[in-house]
Amino acid sequence: MILEGNNVDRSYKEQVDVVIIGSGCGGATVAKQLAAEGHSVLILEQGGYFTAQRGDFDQRSDNMLARIDGGRGMHTSVNNELALMYGNCVGGASVHYWADCWRMPKDRCDEIAATGVTGHSYEELTPYFEQIEKDHNVHFAAPEYYNTMNRLFNEGAETLGWHAEPTPQARRGCAKSGHCYQGCAYNAKQSQLVTSVPAAIEAGARLMADCQVESITRNAKGEASGIEAVFIDRASGRANGHRLQVQARIVVLAAGGYSSAAVWLRAKLPNGSGQVGKNFLCNPNTFLYGLYDREIKLWENIPAATGTSQYRLATYKNDEYVEGGYLLHPNQLQPEFLALTLPGFGEDHRELVSQLPNIGSVVSWIDDELPGEICLNSNGDAEYHYQLRGVDELKARDSLKKQAQLLFATGAKEVIVPDIAGTRLHSVDEIGVFDELPITNGNYLFGAPHPAGTLRMGADPATSVVASNHEAHEVANLFVADPSVFPMQPSVDPSISIMAWSYVAAKEINTRLLSLG
Ligand SMILES: Cc1cc2nc3c(=O)[nH]c(=O)nc-3n(C[C@H](O)[C@H](O)[C@H](O)COP(=O)(O)OP(=O)(O)OC[C@H]3O[C@@H](n4cnc5c(N)ncnc54)[C@H](O)[C@@H]3O)c2cc1C
Repeated sequence: MILEGNNVDRSYKEQVDVVIIGSGCGGATVAKQLAAEGHSVLILEQGGYFTAQRGDFDQRSDNMLARIDGGRGMHTSVNNELALMYGNCVGGASVHYWADCWRMPKDRCDEIAATGVTGHSYEELTPYFEQIEKDHNVHFAAPEYYNTMNRLFNEGAETLGWHAEPTPQARRGCAKSGHCYQGCAYNAKQSQLVTSVPAAIEAGARLMADCQVESITRNAKGEASGIEAVFIDRASGRANGHRLQVQARIVVLAAGGYSSAAVWLRAKLPNGSGQVGKNFLCNPNTFLYGLYDREIKLWENIPAATGTSQYRLATYKNDEYVEGGYLLHPNQLQPEFLALTLPGFGEDHRELVSQLPNIGSVVSWIDDELPGEICLNSNGDAEYHYQLRGVDELKARDSLKKQAQLLFATGAKEVIVPDIAGTRLHSVDEIGVFDELPITNGNYLFGAPHPAGTLRMGADPATSVVASNHEAHEVANLFVADPSVFPMQPSVDPSISIMAWSYVAAKEINTRLLSLG
């Protein structure tokens, strides 16, 4: 059963075993697992329920960002350095993700284990990875799904002596529409909307969409005991006057890396460690454009059938950064977004836009280590403070050099930097410009689709917010199942890791429910 805000004409009171805040990779995975165990599960999602069957995915960026993106595509960090990209709909960010599906690598699992986290080793996660990959049809794309930029990427990597490798993809019956980012109109992209959400409903879970949780309630012992929420009028985005109160034995916070810490702070839950909202990481994306003498049509077919993890881990010599610390992939943008992010104004911009089909692009996710912070402003809205700096800035600059190398190696006659100055390079000999180019404080816009870290997991309640069983150190029966708990970034796109960790959370919650009787 999925109840939508538009069909709500009264306030509700519910009593369930488990109430889950958020329906993304974290929330939907936990819901599916616990419903299958026979527990009564209620999922609450503040965004709307949009489906391909109803024709909601019309492939127009303006409409679709308003429907599925948390900030309608316009939310930035306080200093305008980051474009915050996140989901706000049933299925969460997975409805607008690219469906690249990397497992958290063993080396990163080992690093996390070394911080004192238990139960999340590569070996322990492997059965979950296998199940997730099966359920999401994760596979390598066949050659027919490689667009021109994907093919150029492989050619460029070969020329430069880098190894390229196919990116695991979660798709089934892809129609090659190229509108993954806008939400798949063919139900081919294996988002939570078409996988774990229906599986959870099938197993007996209920879902209320357009339902925003305002508060997590606690009993006299300080244990989580439920939530309070308001229903949202989708057209205005405001509360429609009807409320929801839920009493639950377990509360699962899975509102995503941009929102869970904010929910916690708004609910004024204990924060003895002072770590709630701290340690905010986001894998800032660097990207460059290449202008070619041939058609690329960045918007066709699937985004990143290929890529390279050759530079995933940063290398150091005598403690000095040398290179790496990012994934490198072909980029995909639909024409309107491409036009929007090309630099320049007036005639300069028009001239570039007239050449849109001939523009190629590559993109990197920086494995960031130096965190920012999420806090609340005086209205109770989340603010995102983040400044790229130190080794993360070096990684970003190195990734830009590698991107320019690849674009020139594949025949780009110019490389265009999406910075305020509209910097252009005419040969690979000019890549030294990236050593000094102003790229912070809004001079260059980093995409930020992978928020993490703000309710981090750890053994010590003095330095972390949740324990290895995903339960809050200071609030019994409150579990967190999203990347807010990651003590460090997975070093790859995170969706599969979020799901695998959420399997662990579901197992721990099931054990708790059985012990509660
Ligand atoms: C454009 C884009 C491309 C991406 N591409 C990839 C990719 O190719 N591969 C990959 O692995 N990852 C990718 N990612 C990242 C991946 O999609 C996310 O990390 C993942 O889906 C996050 O899942 P989650 O459950 O943590 O959070 P979310 O998916 O954000 O789900 C949280 C949900 O909670 C809801 N919520 C928030 N606050 C409240 C509240 N108070 N009350 C009720 N509900 C609330 C939100 O509306 C949201 O739907 C991409 C992300 C974006 C934005």
